[in-house]
Formats: sequence, C-alpha cells, structure tokens
Amino acid sequence: MAKKMSLPAQMGIGMVLGVIVGAMAPSMGFEAAWFKPLGDLFITLVRMVVVPLVFCTLIAGAAAVCDVKKLGRVATKTLVYYFATTTVAVAIGLVLANLMDPGAGLDISLEGLKPKSKDAPPLIKVLMDIIPLNPIAALAKGNMLQVIFFAIMFGFGLSMLGEKGRPAFAFFDACAETMINVTNMVMKYAPVGVFGLMAFTVGKHGLSVLLPLGKLLVVMYLAAFLQILLVYLPCAKYAGHGPKSFFSGLIEPLMIAFVTTSSAAALTSNMIAVQKMGASKSVSSFSIPLGNTINMDGAAIYMGVAAIFAAEVYGIPMPLDKQLTVLLLAVLASVGSMGVPGAALVMITMVFTQVGIPLEAVALIAGVDRIMDMARTSINVLGDATGALVVSKWEGPDQQEC
Ligand code: ASP
Repeated sequence: MAKKMSLPAQMGIGMVLGVIVGAMAPSMGFEAAWFKPLGDLFITLVRMVVVPLVFCTLIAGAAAVCDVKKLGRVATKTLVYYFATTTVAVAIGLVLANLMDPGAGLDISLEGLKPKSKDAPPLIKVLMDIIPLNPIAALAKGNMLQVIFFAIMFGFGLSMLGEKGRPAFAFFDACAETMINVTNMVMKYAPVGVFGLMAFTVGKHGLSVLLPLGKLLVVMYLAAFLQILLVYLPCAKYAGHGPKSFFSGLIEPLMIAFVTTSSAAALTSNMIAVQKMGASKSVSSFSIPLGNTINMDGAAIYMGVAAIFAAEVYGIPMPLDKQLTVLLLAVLASVGSMGVPGAALVMITMVFTQVGIPLEAVALIAGVDRIMDMARTSINVLGDATGALVVSKWEGPDQQEC
C-alpha cells in the first residue's frame, strides 16, 4: 500500500492548487467568493475547538502544578519574553522601513477613503476586564484572558480538594485530550480549507492590487524574516531546536496561520506542536493561549512598517521622538489585538491618531491587508511557540507532584 501523504504535504498541495485556481478564476468566469465557504468552514471548525480545549487544559494544568509560586514564575517569565520580543519586532519594522522607504514617491488617490478611528481603552479598564463577572459568559464569548483567569483559579481550587478532587481532575484532563482528538479530526479537512482560502485570496487580490503597494509588502515580509532570523532562531537554538527541527515541528500551525490569517484558528495546532517539540504541558497550556491574545510580534512589526509608510505617503516628518511613540503604542496595540483576521488594521488607527497620520492611510493599506496579515499572523504564532519553548527550557521539565 502506498504511504499516506503527511498532512503538511497535503496542505501544501492545497495551497498551490488554491493559488493556481485563484489566479485563473477571473479568466474562467469564476468568482473568488465561490471558494470562500470552503475556507470559512475550516476556520469555524478550528476555532470551535479553542475555548473548550484551553479551558480544560488550563484547569488540568493548574491543578497538576499545585504550586502557586511556580505559576507566578511561569507567568512572569512569559510576560518578560513577550514584551521583549514584541519591542524588538516593532524596532525591526521601524528600522527597515526607514532604510527602505516603502512609501516614497507613491502617488495614490486617497479620495473617498474614510475609515473610523479606534481609541485605546484606558489601561485600568483593560486590567479590570481580565476578571470575568460571569465565567460562563466569558466562555460563551470566547474572551480568552477571562477564560484563562477563571480556569487557573478553578484549577487551584480543585487541587486544594486533594483526594476528593481526583474525579474532577480526571474529567477535565480527559476532556482536554478529547479536544485534541477532535482537532485531529478537524485537521483532516485542512487541505480543502487551505485550498479554499488561497483560491479566494488570490482570486480577490489579483496582481493589479498588489503592484502599487509592492514595496510595502516587501518591507513587511523582509521584516518578518528578520524577526525569525534575529529573534526566533536564536531562541529556538537555546531551547534545543535547530532551524530544521524548529520549522518542521511548527509547519502545521504555521500553515494554518498563513492561510487563515487568524492566530486563534492556529492556537490548538500550535499548542499540540510545541508539546511534541518538548515544551512542558504546564508552561505551554498557559503561555500559548495567553500569547494568542497578548503576544503579537507580527502585528507589532506591521505597525512600525505601516506608520513609516503612511508618513512618507503624506510627507509627514517622523523624528525620533515620534518613532519612539510609535514603538510604545505599537507594543500596546498589539497586546490589545485579537487573533482574528485584520485585527491589527483596526488597532493601527490608535497609533496613527497619536502621531498625527491621517486615518485615510488605513484605507489605503486595507487593499493589501490580507497579504500583510498572512505574514503577521505567521509571526504572531511563531512568537507564541518560541515563547513556550524558551520558558519551558528556562523552567525545566514538569514535575508530577500533588
Ligand atoms: N490576524 C492576526 C492574528 O490573528 C491579527 C492581526 O495582526 O491582525 O494573529
């Protein structure tokens, strides 16, 4: 019997076929929109798994750690890693954009482009919002930070029960494993979903849309590449993975991120992948869902690049102090972005407003946002994975205690 093709290989074929069919679609009288349901179905299926998986894994994880201090340590290390790498990401975006001038000499009509701005919510509100008034509502809405908060408290409460809590622990542990099995079932559909998403994207954004903003795209992808080269690969090396093992281990979440442009859609696959690569369960079940919401290195790079691009298009000077403002705001805005398509495009209005860039620029970038989102979501997901590997290495292996 012929050997069954691996899932990443099948997804790769789906991607290539999607590009070919998408490129030929207009000339054959096909509409790009016909392919959309195939892709949307995939996104819904993978997102369906996220809330129950994160909830059950975190409860089982926190109940097994049964040491509040350990969790505090993991949280601190994870946050330090996330903020440091996100700051480097914006800096890479800013420096590269300054060197390559993506918006210089661009003459694009901005007439009729009028997006709405988004203001940053006050910090105190953001912090207060981590605590759910109603945990069931948090689960229903898929509010990840609230789910994380409640699940960890619940897990600790469960571990305090000792012997009496064992059946509940076994229940949540089994549910988490069940969700991983559900994910494996869902992933059987991935090659078709990937095909649909690529055919839709390529069919909708033909080359004519991409060419005028080509330099912007090049800068974005180059900055993403540099983030991998300068930050992730050295971090992965520290965690015991050379480039080959790093990419082959993460190929599945990476492909899902690239085609769906939703890091929430890649969350489950990312968690499974880093655990296979040796990340500890207690670290990855906490840091991957947390990173999915607050660690967005790709979005941060994008904000740096897009700010310089837009300033150049409008001839707005960007002295160092303004660029530092962009750096700070981009880190905050990436924390506030969600893992859904186009999230950073909304959050960037906050950065633009603060440094005096007209919001029409957002609509200008929106034409190629999907293509940029593919790069930034991939980086967002790789950033979370690297964080889990590094913090796991830092913490040492899980101890089965309690
Ligand atoms: N689409 C990105 C993600 O899901 C968020 C963004 O940068 O827009 O991670």
